[in-house]
Amino acid sequence: MSSSTPSGGMSASFDPEEIRRKYLEESEKRRTARPPARRAVAESAVASVEDPFVAPGFEREPLRDEVDVVVVGGGITGLVTGAHLRKAGVPLVRMIEKGGGFGGVWYWNRYPGIRCDIDAYIYMPMLEDVGTMPSEKYTMGDEIRAHCQSLAETFDLDEAACLQTRVTAMRWDEEADLWTVTTDRGDEIRARFVCLASGALDNPSIPEVAGLDQFEGHVFHSSRWDYAYTGGNERGGLTKLAGKRVAVVGTAASAIQYIPELAKYARQVTVVQRTPVVVMPRNNKPTDPDWFRSQPPGWQMERTENFSAITQTPPGEAPPEHDIVNDSATSLSKMSRTPPPELSDLLTGADPGTGALITNYAAMEKIQAGMASIINDRTRRKSSCRTTTWAATVPSSATPTSRRTTAPT
Ligand SMILES: Cc1cc2nc3c(=O)[nH]c(=O)nc-3n(C[C@H](O)[C@H](O)[C@H](O)COP(=O)(O)OP(=O)(O)OC[C@H]3O[C@@H](n4cnc5c(N)ncnc54)[C@H](O)[C@@H]3O)c2cc1C
Repeated sequence: MSSSTPSGGMSASFDPEEIRRKYLEESEKRRTARPPARRAVAESAVASVEDPFVAPGFEREPLRDEVDVVVVGGGITGLVTGAHLRKAGVPLVRMIEKGGGFGGVWYWNRYPGIRCDIDAYIYMPMLEDVGTMPSEKYTMGDEIRAHCQSLAETFDLDEAACLQTRVTAMRWDEEADLWTVTTDRGDEIRARFVCLASGALDNPSIPEVAGLDQFEGHVFHSSRWDYAYTGGNERGGLTKLAGKRVAVVGTAASAIQYIPELAKYARQVTVVQRTPVVVMPRNNKPTDPDWFRSQPPGWQMERTENFSAITQTPPGEAPPEHDIVNDSATSLSKMSRTPPPELSDLLTGADPGTGALITNYAAMEKIQAGMASIINDRTRRKSSCRTTTWAATVPSSATPTSRRTTAPT
């Protein structure tokens, strides 16, 4: 079964069965990549897996007290939960966070070039409550982290918070009708309610690379960026990399943001790629302050609901035409749900699920054809571009990093 289209149409001929086979093959590689038994060895080989953003030696007395609600995790989920509890009049909300500050993944990830890839005007929560204006549509990570800190301060979540504190256990006391939450600092905090907002992406994913523990160069994970070694900060200036050869393992959404920054400063950058990701132009732009200030009360919720309506359109249904957000996710959703006419043969009689999959494949083929058109090395073009269905964005002006890419593994 294949679909061939004239150039300028869906841009490539493709066989849905072949694409499906390839996606399953890549998915299998991800599933089997890290046998859990060997993970500890690799982790011990990587410096600064703990928190490199705090001064060493922090100590405090253990707490023995009672609060109304404990929130585990100081990321966006925990902060929004805490903020709404405070808005609803709950007096004592205690956030417990193992990192040294608020933000969750935005606390841990400070690699150069870090930005959100969803429209910041909806991604950064409660902008109206806090009074934050994101400076760009896809704004930098340090701004998101600062906004998270402001959220904590606006809703008085910071004072009672326990930072650099990991929750180790929770025990429900039937008689007292309370939880007892214990931590790695010896706390025993009692609370009627506990909200778990501990996320999924806060632990570095260390690849199983044979010999990693014997490597004598400097190794760190991008979610624990070592600026003492590279120099600079999220906004660039990695001057200490001058003259150095750097290898990057992985090419997903984080790597495609920091690789262009590495390439500006290092003597040589080698990128090792197992499964390529989809890369779309970011089309970033600065926020127009007049536009931002002219938004009526409730604008952020309206924008968020529009985003959800488009991105959660069920398979086989047409997404709403009105797209206020117009970001990478809504564009991809619309593209993935709007069957192009040339697919009518394939789609006739297909059930909605299969139809949605084929339409999604077609959208991916179109994006991949765009990626292939900027890869200069023709021998690598095809293998670099058949990829997974998750997307990441790069600035439309970025130098195609694939020019420096080593052969896919
Ligand atoms: C680099 C990066 C960029 C991203 N960009 C986007 C984007 O642009 N758009 C988008 O939609 N999504 C993005 N995401 C996904 C992101 O995970 C979510 O958008 C969101 O920030 C998750 O928030 P969270 O609070 O649920 O989890 P987290 O941010 O993971 O926060 C959970 C917190 O819980 C803490 N914690 C965990 N266990 C314990 C414990 N036992 N005790 C105490 N504390 C604990 C962790 O330290 C962490 O700070 C990105 C993810 C990453 C890693």
